[in-house]
Amino acid sequence: MKIPFNRPYFTGNEIQTIIKAAMAGQISGNGLYTQKCQSFFEKKFGFKRSLLTTSCTDALEMAAVLINLEPGDEVIIPSYTFVSTASVFALHRARVVFADSSSGNPNIDPDKIEELITNKTKAIVLVHYGGIACDMEKIMNIAEKHDLYIIEDAAHSIDSYYKGKALGSLGHLASFSFHETKNIISGEGGMLAINDKKFIGRAEVIWEKGTNRVAFKKGKVKKYEWVDVGSSYLPSEVIAAILHAQLMSLKGIQKRRKEIWEAYYERLKPLEEKGLIKLPHIPKYATNNGNMFYIIANNPKERDKLLKYLNRNNVHAVFHYLPLHLSPYYRDKHDGRELPNAVRYSDCIIRMPFYYELTLRDINYIVKKVGEFYD
Ligand SMILES: *Cc1c(COP(=O)(O)O)cnc(C)c1O
Repeated sequence: MKIPFNRPYFTGNEIQTIIKAAMAGQISGNGLYTQKCQSFFEKKFGFKRSLLTTSCTDALEMAAVLINLEPGDEVIIPSYTFVSTASVFALHRARVVFADSSSGNPNIDPDKIEELITNKTKAIVLVHYGGIACDMEKIMNIAEKHDLYIIEDAAHSIDSYYKGKALGSLGHLASFSFHETKNIISGEGGMLAINDKKFIGRAEVIWEKGTNRVAFKKGKVKKYEWVDVGSSYLPSEVIAAILHAQLMSLKGIQKRRKEIWEAYYERLKPLEEKGLIKLPHIPKYATNNGNMFYIIANNPKERDKLLKYLNRNNVHAVFHYLPLHLSPYYRDKHDGRELPNAVRYSDCIIRMPFYYELTLRDINYIVKKVGEFYD
């Protein structure tokens, strides 16, 4: 039987919480479980405000709306990331300026950001790839110096830290994903974390279709009305109930995922020492949250052959992001700069099967196959 790339993990408590949500008499959004999840995030990770959303993409879109983009405004975004990190900013009329990755890891290269800043630049969006923190001090200094917003796409980054501070708590705004391929899941789902207090009031309005319904529910206004732009970004209580069951098991899920990560790392280390592959590196300022395990092949040809070899041997390993500056939608709009590291990660990364129920036996088999390929 093939070892799948991903298999959604359920704690077993999800059905119970879904039934409780239904019995509580409100299955639409912003009910009991939404509030429980949001306070959990605020307390545990120190976000000033957390709002559940239907996806990370929607949380990013809320961020795009919140920073008040005007036509011509520029947003600096890494090319090596998922489409929605960039597409929602394009949807809200920003010009996307793509940045390259570092040579040592797939995160945005902090030393190449400043040269991209113009008087039109409004924000820097960054992605902590695989849950491993970007070099935040450098990036935050640049943002401060040029008065720019930082938006963290923290889709991979639940329960991961930069110098002891939770990822998603450092930027003005941050987005998380609970899509079934992430650490904590609700099928589809996401969250906007707000760390700059000035955004909270307006975020609550945008979240609820442009109305002041959140304030109304808290008894702060007598009726709820249309007060700003907005959309329907809040998930139903069914989604929040699933998420809550997962959050109650966060510790155990994270422990297991980190064990899997370590198991891959130890077993593949000898191949790295022989110079055959490269493994993810965790800088001193960062932590590992067991989001994914990837290896970097020495060249694209070898990567493609290894992928084929693993798949022929029933291991569903996969490649990852295609560089967005070369995408069909953006290549004509890109300014032509070469982004060699983004292209190299796109061509050379292989992600290994990674899910809670992956066994040591599976990992031993997968690593054996990688070893056989290099023999
Ligand atoms: C998964 C992912 C997203 C999108 O998340 P959704 O919840 O599916 O919208 C965005 N950015 C990154 C980096 C991701 O990995």
